[in-house]
Amino acid sequence: MIDKTLKQLAQALAAKEISSVELSTLFLDRIERLNPDINAFVTVDREQTLSMAAAADARIAAGTAGPLTGIPIAQKDIFCAEGWRTTCGSKMLADFVAPYNATVIEKMHRDAGLVLLGKTNMDEFAMGSSNETSFFGPVKNPWDRTRVPGGSSGGSAAAVAARLAPAATGTDTGGSIRQPAALCNLTGLKPTYGVVSRYGMIAYASSLDQGGPMGATAEDCALLLNTMAGFDVRDSTSLERPAEDYTRNLEQPLAGLRIGLPKEFFAAGCDAGVMATVQEAINEYRRLGATIVDVSLPNSHLSVPAYYVIAPAEASSNLSRFDGVRYGYRAPDYGNLDDMYMKTRAQGFGEEVKRRILIGTYVLSHGYYDAYYLQAQRIRRLIANDFVEAFKSCDVILGPTSPTTAFKLGEKSADPVQMYLSDIYTIAVNLAGLPGMALPCGFAGDLPVGLQLIGNYFDEARLLNVAHRYQQATDWHLRSPRGIE
Ligand code: GLN
Repeated sequence: MIDKTLKQLAQALAAKEISSVELSTLFLDRIERLNPDINAFVTVDREQTLSMAAAADARIAAGTAGPLTGIPIAQKDIFCAEGWRTTCGSKMLADFVAPYNATVIEKMHRDAGLVLLGKTNMDEFAMGSSNETSFFGPVKNPWDRTRVPGGSSGGSAAAVAARLAPAATGTDTGGSIRQPAALCNLTGLKPTYGVVSRYGMIAYASSLDQGGPMGATAEDCALLLNTMAGFDVRDSTSLERPAEDYTRNLEQPLAGLRIGLPKEFFAAGCDAGVMATVQEAINEYRRLGATIVDVSLPNSHLSVPAYYVIAPAEASSNLSRFDGVRYGYRAPDYGNLDDMYMKTRAQGFGEEVKRRILIGTYVLSHGYYDAYYLQAQRIRRLIANDFVEAFKSCDVILGPTSPTTAFKLGEKSADPVQMYLSDIYTIAVNLAGLPGMALPCGFAGDLPVGLQLIGNYFDEARLLNVAHRYQQATDWHLRSPRGIE
């Protein structure tokens, strides 16, 4: 059961081979046994999980189940779930129990009947690429437990890779679904900005944040996205569009598909082992009938610098709400009100979060705003225009997801710029608001490599099709780490 895809689990539940309570218990027992070492989950609540599973079994018995009802999944601990501790990886929210559900939680658990297995570890407030900024400690990569799982959705990635959950959610502001998926041999999708509601998803950089699925296959991601996507009046950036079935194009043949290779993604800066694996994937796509064309994203080298102005600027504003008054941590000893604010924020936030609040406050301040924030917004437009141009000659863009495979725990934690460069291939997609996917495409040494596919706006169904056809021709996505039984 633990090796089955969502599609197969749905069949097993429908055929009454197993109940949701039995299936959920199986995963809860695995979490209990293996999580103390991997640290993928920060909160598990057997009682709440099993009562959701019992309710799902009742729906299945009554014939009112949806296609995924009864399947247990993990949620990144950035989504508020009523009655569940919701920490966002921070001391600031270490004891915060959410009083309401995020829209994603409502849609996936209340409406679709998925069972919530637990909340997964993450970089503090989703700031990081290694899961090492979490207040709850680092997560180990199941492929090599001396290495990081990527971040910020590192707990979700490790949970699925170690088969502690059949699938999970992540959020992606600059790469946080795609990069950990790549480092843990998973498939992950960041939808077009506005497709998945951000209501109840703790905000990091609101103009970039987007939730999405992480799983074993593109088909599983399509099934999950069907439950997550949709207009929400409670999120003013949510887009009002007709509902889609993201599985509808999965089987479409790739003959005639034009795949663009941006020359900037194939220049220096990528590990040779990663590059060789990506080249092999391009050959596979040729065999599948796709045409390969050269494209250019001339401003992509500016994406990391622009992101590290815009994202901290938005974070400095979003995180001002953590002041010790409304919710979350409050310093135990203080003098006047100002002293309470200062001590609360000094004690409640970690180093990386403080660094970003300081940078964000600086770039927004009088006298610097034009030089930094405004310039970064201009670059953002140029980057988006690059994609508009590129999509005139191709249907999807292909490249690596991350310039390296999983790095060692501690290897980059002392050097923020090195850490930031983990996202050189992913960030431009967020700045432009486009959909992007990561999927397994082989190994460099013993470590997984992730291919990235970037689509035009609202072209999720095509991306999933392009990934699915590749997964039918290859078996990289079916490999599991050794030593985790
Ligand atoms: N690694 C990037 C950062 O640190 C992206 C994180 C994310 O997508 N949440 O901001």
